Parts: sequence; structure tokens; C-alpha cells
Amino acid sequence: MTDLYRVLPEEMDNLVIKLGQPRYRADQLLHALYHESPKKISDLHQIPSTMQDALVTSGYTIGTQSEVHRITSEDGHTTKLLLKFDDDTLIETVLMQYSPSQDKTHPRSTVCVSTQVGCPMGCVFCATGQMGFEKNLKAEEIVAQVLHFASLLRQRGEHVTNLVFMGMGEPLANYDETIRAIRLLTHPRAFGLGQRSITISTVGVIAGIDKLADEDIQVKLAISLHAPNDVLRKKLVPTAGPHSVEDLISAAKRYFKKTGRRVTFEYALIDGINDSNKVAEELVQILKGNGAHVNLIPMNPTAGGFSRPARKRVLAFQQILRDGGVNCTVRVEKGSEIAAACGQLRTDVIKNITH
Ligand code: SF4
Repeated sequence: MTDLYRVLPEEMDNLVIKLGQPRYRADQLLHALYHESPKKISDLHQIPSTMQDALVTSGYTIGTQSEVHRITSEDGHTTKLLLKFDDDTLIETVLMQYSPSQDKTHPRSTVCVSTQVGCPMGCVFCATGQMGFEKNLKAEEIVAQVLHFASLLRQRGEHVTNLVFMGMGEPLANYDETIRAIRLLTHPRAFGLGQRSITISTVGVIAGIDKLADEDIQVKLAISLHAPNDVLRKKLVPTAGPHSVEDLISAAKRYFKKTGRRVTFEYALIDGINDSNKVAEELVQILKGNGAHVNLIPMNPTAGGFSRPARKRVLAFQQILRDGGVNCTVRVEKGSEIAAACGQLRTDVIKNITH
């Protein structure tokens, strides 16, 4: 069976022609899929029932997902969902809303999507990393997370404005399905989101960074650095193994040179581990002069055994970077009371189901 949500517009053109239908049927199909949330092929009312039957007999389907759990922050700006796909796969996805700027009527609505179930990268401070790797998500399962929130937002006259690939999993370790999902979500005949509204975050799959630089898609890239030297980085990201910090910085420079888009370095600040003045100064040494932007993410307090530094320490770390000429921001906190570490919600729900 092939899910219609993995079919690119050009492939949809070929499909309708193969089924003996005029090309405009492809646009009708795409419009219904991306703007009307059909649950099954018989919900595609714009196309004749003979074509619906032909789609079914040719092995096409519409996959569905159900909400197993939903948590919303007290201020209502952050919603975290646990979604279950038809094959019982469970993944987390998060919507973060930011107040509208003066000239906009709608808030910025960013969906944080997952690309894998579990993660092979094993970052020691991450609940998903501690879960091990289960499977790569298919493009349609990545798309489904965005469409699920799009449908919720549509009911209140809002829409998804941005995507960050920062949920469960390493997107560049599931490269082909991630790129297919991005093509579907940005194609003007499909979901139509602006390419520049998308950020892919990687913990450092260098071959993937180089490949991404060659794609004809204008997404932003964030690299999770977390440490300025290999000894410390390997403690936090054990799979960093073959790639040094220097290799990563070189990959970011190549990406910038090729695409003209600056790379953001994400840095999870962990109390007593990578938050000292000395470490900040080392970070300045490796990043200064190349226009790098660093986004500090005070560690989520719920991630196993690690804690976030005091606010004063975070600001002192930021100041050292700024004084050293490195552009640096601290990530805006969204719904911290529900922002259990990425992967935590799934882990907790599974424990409740099995115990
Ligand atoms: S932080 Fe990201 S890359 Fe590292 S284990 Fe967690 S999900 Fe994977």
C-alpha cells in the first residue's frame, strides 16, 4: 500500500494520468489532502467515485494518526502530543506559539517534528537518545505531524507558520524521508509552507550536511554543538566518535559558502558540565570571526540526572561569547512545565501502559 501523503505533486500528475484521468485531478487531490484533512479515500469528494475505486485497487491509501495524549502548557502557548500511527508507532510532536508581532494578526505557530522513533545518536542528556533507536519515520508520518496541528489550528482560524526538525530523532540520519517530507510540506501545490520557515537541526551527520547544501531547498541549518572540544563532546554525544568539533565547524563553513545561509550552533547548557567560563572562552576561540550564531539552550531539568545552570550562569556564559565577538542568544522558554525532555512523554506513557 502507498500512502497518498508521500506522493509528490509530479508523481501525482503521473498517477492520475496512469489512472486515465485529466491532470487537474492531481490538483484536486492535493488540495483535498493538504487543506481538508480527509481520513479515507472515500472522503475525497472532489474526485469521482470511479477514480476513488481506482486509487484503492491500485494500492493507495490514506494513513491516519490518533492522539494518544495531549498536554497543553498553562499559558496555552505550547501543546505536546503523543501520536499513534496505524502500525502502533508512537511519536511526540510539539506546537509552540509565539505572540503576534505588531504587524501580524496571527501568532507564529511552530511545529517541532520528529523524524525517528528513538534515536541512534545516544546523547546522554536526552530521553529519546536513552530509548535507543527503533525506526525511521516515513515521509508521510513526518508530514502527518504537521497536518495534525494544521487541522487543529484551522479550527481557530490560524495556521502553521514554521517548522523545526528538533523532535525525536536525528533528521539527517533519516535523510531521504526527511527531504521528501520537506518537499511535500513546501511544494506550492501541496502544503505550501515557505522553505525558509524550516530549520533542520543535526547533531552532526557531516555527510548529510554536505548533501543538504547541494539540495535545491532553502532550509535553515542548526548544528547541535554542546561542547568546544572533542573530549567533552564525546562525553555528551557518544556517537560523535569519528567526527571532531573541527570537522563540524568546517562542514558549517562549507554549508554557508555553498548556500549563503548562516548556520546556528545549538548549545545545551548543562550545570557543572559545559557551562564554565573556561568552556565559554574555548567556544569563543573556535567560533569567532566566522559569523557564527550560538543559541544557548538551558538544559531541560527533567532530563536524566542533568540540570540547568542558574540564570546568572547562563547570562555570564552568554556575555563571554558576546564579548568575544560571537553572536549569541538564549532560547526563549516555551511551556517549560510541559517541556519534559524530548522523548519523555512517550517513555512515561509506555511505562504506564506496560506496568
Ligand atoms: S538530542 Fe537529538 S540527536 Fe541527540 S539523542 Fe536526542 S534526539 Fe537524538
